[in-house]
Amino acid sequence: MLNRVSSTFRRYIHPTKRFVLDNQTRKSYVAFANTTLFQYSYSNEIQSNFYSFSTSNSSIANNVSNLRIRDRMQFNIKPLNSIQNSGVSYRSLSTTAYTKEMQGMMTPDSALEELKKGNKRFLAKSPVDRDLLEQVDATSSGQFPYATVLSCIDSRTSSELIFDQGIGDIFSIRIAGNFVNDDILGSMEFTCKLAGTKLIVVLGHTACGAVKGACDHARLGNLTTLINKIEPAVAAVKEPLDESLRNSSNSAFVDEVAAQNVRMTMDNIRSSSEILAEMEKKGEIKIVGGMYDVGTGKVNFYS
Ligand SMILES: [Zn+2]
Repeated sequence: MLNRVSSTFRRYIHPTKRFVLDNQTRKSYVAFANTTLFQYSYSNEIQSNFYSFSTSNSSIANNVSNLRIRDRMQFNIKPLNSIQNSGVSYRSLSTTAYTKEMQGMMTPDSALEELKKGNKRFLAKSPVDRDLLEQVDATSSGQFPYATVLSCIDSRTSSELIFDQGIGDIFSIRIAGNFVNDDILGSMEFTCKLAGTKLIVVLGHTACGAVKGACDHARLGNLTTLINKIEPAVAAVKEPLDESLRNSSNSAFVDEVAAQNVRMTMDNIRSSSEILAEMEKKGEIKIVGGMYDVGTGKVNFYS
């Protein structure tokens, strides 16, 4: 594995001893031997995420085969404007899994930014070129995800896919209608307080079957209990007043209830979990809402 990455890296030798990698959105990357000789830069454009390693040490440029991937480490980040004109051809390397250090670098805002960028990559058909088995290997002794996403069980709304995430990147909690109960709050307290994630996303989606069931006040076995938990959102949406328009055949109404359900779920997290409310107050986490459009693949975050 190390040899493969090293040989891939050779392709990025630039005459001016600049090494360029693209399509990496991680703010950390594998470090190479003699890392202090490398300078790291980063461009934040979605279609042009460049990582540049440059060195004044000609022996490294002339003898790349001596490079060894030795460890993972953090790099300082600074914008790089000149790289677009470097004339270098580049492609991506597989992305490593999140480490404790990488997780520690994340803030609630950068975690949200990372998810936004992931959804943009998903929409641009430009996923990170990751080696999932390499990530399995890297996470075998521990996981350090940076975000927790609560979404619906709907087969179209897998958080890992729509945010272009890999193994060990995010905690994914799924339940029809993406609401919280005691068990899910307990899961979130684990992911945030004990496992260190910086962000909770409550993610609804358009055309949600569970929300439609609530709009129609459907009753069926154990599903009844579940639908009861979404019905307060139906009642909270005042328009339209005409009862004949307040059902699942009105898709605008269904989506408005889904949005209301997200907002009420965010409130429920804060009011029912002292631990999470306290963490949010201290700025250790953020709780945000969003809506996934099953027609376009786009996630719109609230606020
Ligand atoms: Zn759903």
